[in-house]
This record gives sequence, C-alpha cells and structure tokens, in this order.
Amino acid sequence: MTFFRVPLLIQLLFNRRVWKGKDKSAVYLTFDDGPDEETTPWVLELLKKEQIKATFFCIGKNILAHPKIFQDILKDGHSIGNHTFTHEKGVGTSTARYMASITKTDALHHSLLFRPPYGRTNAKQVRNIIRLGKKIIMWTWNAQDYKKSMIPEKIIANANRIKGMDILLFHNSIKSKENMMKSLPQIIHIVKQKKLNFQPLS
Ligand SMILES: [Zn+2]
Repeated sequence: MTFFRVPLLIQLLFNRRVWKGKDKSAVYLTFDDGPDEETTPWVLELLKKEQIKATFFCIGKNILAHPKIFQDILKDGHSIGNHTFTHEKGVGTSTARYMASITKTDALHHSLLFRPPYGRTNAKQVRNIIRLGKKIIMWTWNAQDYKKSMIPEKIIANANRIKGMDILLFHNSIKSKENMMKSLPQIIHIVKQKKLNFQPLS
C-alpha cells in the first residue's frame, strides 16, 4: 500500500533521511530512473517551457546507455542525484554490493544527493551513505505514476494536497510514461496556481 502523502510518523521514524525541502514557498520536483529515451527528452522540453529546474535521480547504467540525454539534463541546469547503478533494492542486497553500486555511479557523475530505489535501505547502508557525505533524499508526495492501477486523473486530483517544502516523486521510465505525461503539465499548473515556485534540490 502506497500513499500520495507520506505519513508524518514514517518521516519521524526514519529521520536520518531527508523528506522535505527547506523553502516554504517552494516545491521540489524529482524524477527517478532516467535517463530514458522515451520520457526524459519530453520532460526536459516541458521544464524548459515552464522555466522550472528539477532534480533527476539517475541510474548509472542508464547514464551509460544514454550519455547524450544525460548531458542534456546537465546542460539545462537541473540537479542530479545518484540512484545506484542497476536499481538495487537495499533491503536484500549486501551492504558491500550496495555501496559498490553507488560508487560506480558516482564515477560517472559525483553527486551528494542519493535516493534509494524503492525507498528501501537498511540501517547499515544508511550509515555508510551518510559517511560518504551524501544526503538520502526521500519524498513527501508520490505520484505513483509507475503503478498499473494508477490513472492520470487520480494523480491530478491529489495535487490539491501539495504544499510548500514538498518533494514530489515522478519517474522517467516506460512504466510511468502515460501517467507521468498525462498528469505532469496539470500538476505544474496547479502548483503555480498555489503561488509556490519550483526549485532543484542541493
Ligand atoms: Zn527508482
């Protein structure tokens, strides 16, 4: 079971992770799992048109597969975060292997932002990641665009619950393509109507 808004209790329980941005008048758009040839160029075009900077949590092997798209993300001035090399789930992966996957991705582009795939890491991994000087970035509002059972209308309906400091989670992947593309322009519109601005994470 996943919620649009992450319950406060979860945020308090896992308080070594970053759940929110710092600016009350801002929200933070994030896109996981790229670069992807079917969705990332589309997102970049939209963000350019809307004059928005966002944060892309990239998978190392996808950076290698789509170096040109990765350069386009950088060129447009967006933030980049590490999302492991092959999208390992922390829980169930040895810490040694997990950390090696993060380091391998850092070698392609070093970032102090890290987002665990599936939001899953164990306590030992968390300690190791923080020791590298990284922030573990979670989210407060999850579009759940990757779910088969999700529809764009439902994502848009839940945008009225977005507020300042929220970190919004979307995906750049085939799985999320339709939900993301059919909801993101509206979400941006709704956030702008709330007089909130968009900022990249740092
Ligand atoms: Zn992911």
